[in-house]
Amino acid sequence: MSYQSINPATGECEWQQPYLDEQSLEERLQALPAANRQWSALSVSQRGAYLMALAQQLRLQQSSLAGIMTAEMGKKTSEAEAEIEKSAQVCEYYAKQALDMLAPESLPASPSDAYLHFEPIGTVLAIMPWNFPIWQVMRCAAPTLMAGNTLALKHAENVPRCADMLQTLFVEAGFPEAVFSNLFIDNETCAQVIADDRIAAVTLTGSERAGRSVAASAGKALKKSVLELGGSDAFVVLDGADVEQAATTAVKSRFMNAGQVCIAAKRFILHPKVADAFIAAFVQHAKSLQLAPMARRDLRDQLQQQVDDSVAAGATRLLGGYAGSGYADYPATVLDQVPTGCPAYEQELFGPVAAMIRAQDDQDAVRIANATRFGLGASVWGPEQEARAMAHHIVAGCVVVNGMVRSDQRLPFGGTKQSGYGRELAQYGMREFTNMKTLIID
Ligand code: NDP
Repeated sequence: MSYQSINPATGECEWQQPYLDEQSLEERLQALPAANRQWSALSVSQRGAYLMALAQQLRLQQSSLAGIMTAEMGKKTSEAEAEIEKSAQVCEYYAKQALDMLAPESLPASPSDAYLHFEPIGTVLAIMPWNFPIWQVMRCAAPTLMAGNTLALKHAENVPRCADMLQTLFVEAGFPEAVFSNLFIDNETCAQVIADDRIAAVTLTGSERAGRSVAASAGKALKKSVLELGGSDAFVVLDGADVEQAATTAVKSRFMNAGQVCIAAKRFILHPKVADAFIAAFVQHAKSLQLAPMARRDLRDQLQQQVDDSVAAGATRLLGGYAGSGYADYPATVLDQVPTGCPAYEQELFGPVAAMIRAQDDQDAVRIANATRFGLGASVWGPEQEARAMAHHIVAGCVVVNGMVRSDQRLPFGGTKQSGYGRELAQYGMREFTNMKTLIID
């Protein structure tokens, strides 16, 4: 049994990575406690120097790493290169900011003195997806490592070369052994690893299905978990919005990375006064797009099924809607008049399909925006005062007014409802995997 790297542009299997056998896995796990003791004993600035060296390695290997990303999961070279640059920047940012973020806080306990200290907890198991195969890992790794924890990575089965290359970059950057280790294991073994005493906590970015399974394993072992799951983000356009600007941004948000983005705008909820103009502009921009293939053929087929079921339920196909001729191609697709109860309304469409939903008025738009089991991000477009007011009524981990939901290294990132729990990034993300120790001096 092995991880298989299938090029989604051709359907060819270009690389196989065997699963770790029992003995090799045990050797990797055995190396973790000592690595953790050594790493956590370093000062924050010493750890920062390693992260700065890693940023340098990412940039040095940008072109070969981008080639691997494209070959494994299909994204465009320009998008792969931008992802690597963003990953280098997140290393530098946390290398510089960690000292402030981890500084002990003074607590009110007069006449005693009291402080809150943020101490590392051990090795964090990171289970990561294929859609941003470098950024998702580094978004977790940079703050987690700077907090003094070590990291074991279980990457998605279709991107083993990305995982392997990351390991090489850590070595080239001079990291002590086992501060970052790849675990090429299947999901069953993953549950055993979560239960293992040498793993302190687990973080997952992926589907709801994976979230339930990983959270159950973590709960059983009484270990902390952070889950960053799917989303079906609302993009609300109010009367008075700059429709052209909104449509341009909407197309970017929906179709970047061939639509395989958790925080992509997925449901476009439109005030009757702007609906027709917005949809016309959106279709106009979407028509000319040349998308990269989707990451896997099964995901493309699943998307096609969701589109077919939505059309059968009454949605109107305005653009695209049929699988392309390539191994995993899917064109930019727009559905209008999307009715409640169909997949495009109720489920996450993890590919290049936009669902247009017409609201009756502002209040109805809020109702529709919240009529989802997800709660990752949302954006509201319109006159600032009204859009800001609406932002407070939308249940999501992040709402952006007149802009696109994005993952910014400086800002906390995460969701509510079935989109998961906990936060990544900023001091909130960094402190997720710390023991917040209260120190009282009487
Ligand atoms: P998965 O959730 O299956 O994969 C994401 C990661 O979780 C992979 O490393 C995967 O490993 C791992 N995983 C899956 N099940 C388990 C388990 N039981 N125990 C431990 N690890 C597990 O996503 P898919 O690749 O199937 O993508 C399908 C859907 O997932 C998308 O349609 C989208 O909804 C969602 N998704 C969301 C992402 C996000 O950014 N929030 C990113 C990617 C997907 P393995 O590959 O070995 O199964």
